[in-house]
Amino acid sequence: MAELNPFKIAQEQLAEAAQALGLDDATHEALRWPMREMTVTLTVRMDDGSVKVFRGYRVQYNDARGPTKGGLRFHPQETLDTVRALAAWMTWKTAVMDLPLGGGKGGVTCNPKEMSPSELERLSRAFIRQVGRIIGPEKDVPAPDVYTTPQIMAWMMDEFSALRGYNAPGVITGKPLPLGGSLGRVDATARGGMYVTREAAKVLGLKTEGATVAIQGFGNAGQFAATLSKELLGMKVVAASDSRGGVYNPKGIDPHALVEHKQRTGSVVDFPGTEPISNEDLLQLKVDLLVPAALENVITDQNADKIQAKIVCELANGPTTPEADKILHDRGVFVLPDFLANAGGVTVSYFEQVQNAYNYYWPLEDVHKRLDQKMTKAFNDVYETHKKHNVHMRLAAYMVAVARVAEAMKLRGWV
Ligand code: NAD
Repeated sequence: MAELNPFKIAQEQLAEAAQALGLDDATHEALRWPMREMTVTLTVRMDDGSVKVFRGYRVQYNDARGPTKGGLRFHPQETLDTVRALAAWMTWKTAVMDLPLGGGKGGVTCNPKEMSPSELERLSRAFIRQVGRIIGPEKDVPAPDVYTTPQIMAWMMDEFSALRGYNAPGVITGKPLPLGGSLGRVDATARGGMYVTREAAKVLGLKTEGATVAIQGFGNAGQFAATLSKELLGMKVVAASDSRGGVYNPKGIDPHALVEHKQRTGSVVDFPGTEPISNEDLLQLKVDLLVPAALENVITDQNADKIQAKIVCELANGPTTPEADKILHDRGVFVLPDFLANAGGVTVSYFEQVQNAYNYYWPLEDVHKRLDQKMTKAFNDVYETHKKHNVHMRLAAYMVAVARVAEAMKLRGWV
């Protein structure tokens, strides 16, 4: 169905921003499509001696502001259109953060859960032998994403370095620390989300000390959101959930103990001193902060009128549908849109690139300080546009991002 094609959705979101900005037709048309895309066929020797053939993609959406940047996914449902949509979103994400980068994305259609480590290594190296000609520290810099790991980044960096004949750590980010990874990458997404939450609370006149938090999805992003909301903002986590269910205690839950429980048992369910709560009820709790950190399309026109949170910090990608966005805006729920709220990860990836280029590595405090500066500036840019044009925060973020990319294209003489 056309309307479920993520690339069509990305083009529609662009159209809304283009209209709000009064963008000329040529610039709009040029931004509707990736500048370059490469589809590759990979032959990989499997452990049983047979050869399997895989399809892979790398899309360089727009590089007007700098080398393209974006993750690589190993996923059975990967298609060229998914990769195009994600590459478009990366373009807006790097632009809203004012990073000197463009947007890209890549992937291989495969099921990594059915592959051995040595098969994954051969697949990763085969992918780089194909796309190696179009990526590089000055051209296009991949990173981990769904089902790709620091180990996979290490193999890819090694293969690229072998092809070029020199050590090239800056070709890829999300590497293990001994190979040029950055400190502060593991919790960067949630930390960035908490910095913009702090700024949102300021403009809304909300005290964060003791403010209540509900977190949907207790994975990498959600767990760090829980501990950091307490550590950085003095907030009180009252509910959290994962795919097996949720837990609730209005008096507060110790986030570190909950992380430990999840690591020990595989789920937040049955955490002592809490009562069970469904994912649907968790979303509708009367809390100060709601953090969707699991899946797409969880806040829809079916439940948006029941959301009682004051702030929604979207660590997940695409948790709110366009219809729900309008409802939340009309009801005065303040949404920190995904490509601003979860941009801490790509920002520290950018810091990793910078450190690789200098071959000099920063202490953790420097990473945190610079991340805070970037997130705070981006929040303020989007908030000013939101106020000035009286548009919801997601459209404001699009307007900031698209205007920046359009300006770079104009200055280069492309449009
Ligand atoms: P993850 O796989 O570590 O965690 C996802 C969590 O969601 C798991 O705890 C899972 O049990 C839970 N979940 C699944 N289905 C659920 C359901 N129906 N209800 C409640 N919980 C459910 O993934 P992650 O890395 O934490 O990413 C989560 C989201 O954040 C994704 O949308 C991802 O794209 C986005 N994101 C993550 C990062 C990052 O750096 N990790 C960066 C940007 C965006």
